Amino acid sequence: MFALLGLVATLLALGTAAPLHGAKSLNKLLLVSFDGFRWNYDQDVDTPNLDAMAREGVKARYITPPFVTQTSPIHFTLLTGRYIENHGVIHNMWFNTSTGQKLPYYNTQGRSDWWDNGSLPIWITAQRQGLKTGSLFFPGGNATYQGEQVNVKKVEKLLHNYGNEVEWRQNIDTVMKWFYEENLDFVALYFGEPDSTGHKYGPESQQRKDMISQVDRTVGYLRQRISENGMNSALNLIITSDHGMETVIKDNEIHLLKVANFSFQDIQFELLDYGPQGLLVPKPGKLDKVYEALKTAHPKLHVYKKEEFPERFHYANHTRVTPLVLYGDPGYVIHGRLKLQFNKGEHGFDNADMNMKTIFRAVGPAFKRGLEVEPFESVNVYALLCKLLGIIPEPHDGSLNATQAMLVKSGGMGLVNFQYYNHWLGNELIQSKLINSNEQVSAVEFQ
Ligand SMILES: [Zn+2]
Repeated sequence: MFALLGLVATLLALGTAAPLHGAKSLNKLLLVSFDGFRWNYDQDVDTPNLDAMAREGVKARYITPPFVTQTSPIHFTLLTGRYIENHGVIHNMWFNTSTGQKLPYYNTQGRSDWWDNGSLPIWITAQRQGLKTGSLFFPGGNATYQGEQVNVKKVEKLLHNYGNEVEWRQNIDTVMKWFYEENLDFVALYFGEPDSTGHKYGPESQQRKDMISQVDRTVGYLRQRISENGMNSALNLIITSDHGMETVIKDNEIHLLKVANFSFQDIQFELLDYGPQGLLVPKPGKLDKVYEALKTAHPKLHVYKKEEFPERFHYANHTRVTPLVLYGDPGYVIHGRLKLQFNKGEHGFDNADMNMKTIFRAVGPAFKRGLEVEPFESVNVYALLCKLLGIIPEPHDGSLNATQAMLVKSGGMGLVNFQYYNHWLGNELIQSKLINSNEQVSAVEFQ
């Protein structure tokens, strides 16, 4: 009996030509994010590899990130299809308004309590439906969700140098191995550039342009490796980013310490000096006083009570968002007690600002060739990822309508439709099983 089971297991393991059962996607999917790649960064630099990808696939004119335009919150929107107020990762930094404790970006990556608060990233959803997934440095990839983790992951070390091109190629080789040796179906791959260079030197600098050349060479290397592994017709590749980059204005800066009638004595908790965004918890009874003092403090500073924060941002309706929310107009960062921000480039601004818009490119068997599509919101990417993997999405805020025109008509292009096959005995539902609708129902076996 056990020997027979062993034989069956061996046959299944060897069975490359075995019929598909359940939710096994036909095509693999690689989601790549180059952090802080502004939508028009390819317009003043020669980018032959990105251009080739656009000719052979799909390019959006730009995409609009959710607000707040920070790295972890936006990447979690890509992974969940939820606006930031609905997924709850409202800042790059974990914080506790009672104790005043705050953790920087790197440490926050490992705090599952920050990430795992109701919305499942696509890794976990895909795994629950029978797929294998991986994360290489992708924000959110180092957390545990409802007790589950991404199958395969690589996490950067503290003080990681995100700009090393040699390591970028090693990471691409690692991802290729995950696909063809470990048979992963979906991998999310993250690069910390051109964000770091954009912050340090500014988005209009030569250094940023040089970094875009490095990104472009890397795209070329990635597509070459996909081709060498014979995966051109079996892998869909999406290259996107979280947000753009704005030049910081150094004149007439917003500095809360200098504001008349405002005192840090009235503040219980503050999260400031993080680009253009500020979160404040006034001490009991001080909310109106602080609000009135800050509301007219600076023509480029916007101050809102949480309940009055504009709905178009889809940001403030979450328990983690503090009673007062501040943001600066494009170019204006918010300094708190001391002026500690020296970056030449910054993000976090209004997502309507063109300099916050970012890129979306896709190529592979599911995508049309040479198509440029109109802008859409990042919140819609998740539905596309689920469609490409043939999995049923979790509830989300996006729609496949935003991206459907990019796709070739299904049927043999790796777009698999799934449905539930329900096994009834009289009026009792004995078992419900997810199946590929291309399969014959008779092929479904209940265990
Ligand atoms: Zn970022």
